[in-house]
Amino acid sequence: MPDLTEGVARFQRDVFPAKAELFAHLAAHHTPETLFISCSDARVVPELITGTEPGDLFVIRTAGNLVPAYTPGADGVAASIEYAVAALGVKDIVVCGHSTCGAMTALAEGHDLSGAPAVADWLRLADASVARTTVDGDVAALVRENVLAQLANLATHPSVARALAEKTVALHGWVYDIPTGDVDDLTAPAGGPAAGTLAAA
Ligand SMILES: [Zn+2]
Repeated sequence: MPDLTEGVARFQRDVFPAKAELFAHLAAHHTPETLFISCSDARVVPELITGTEPGDLFVIRTAGNLVPAYTPGADGVAASIEYAVAALGVKDIVVCGHSTCGAMTALAEGHDLSGAPAVADWLRLADASVARTTVDGDVAALVRENVLAQLANLATHPSVARALAEKTVALHGWVYDIPTGDVDDLTAPAGGPAAGTLAAA
């Protein structure tokens, strides 16, 4: 395990002083403009990928970046979505899948999950994405289908549905490629300047 204590000491010594003004501001302000929903995978680091600062992203991370469709009742993901949209007023929601996702690989390749029943149950939320992926074992295709399915699920949450109707929020589906750093925007308007891979321009 990396020495987290040493990491904290390094943060306090090297990082914090350079951003002291920002942290002083953030102490009394929480106004992120983006809800970023990604996989829990350790290789996906939202703030690093997007070049954002503390305070910029409200982040939800789940195995397989799955967002359950809305159902009444206590649900941590639903509560975080509602807080981000209705209380914080985020203007954009990004669902970010990624290459070689363990969750999507298990589904695409039909892994035996009998030893991990909670994981198996959770991944059932991707059943429709699996059904729409025509080639068995095509992890990349499932990752993309799964991102688009989560955008549809997001729209079933009342706070998101309301914000979409009022055009105060926009939904985006991305796929991050770990070995190249590329980010593919699945929801960019076809033929538009932002279509396809987000350029490094
Ligand atoms: Zn993943």
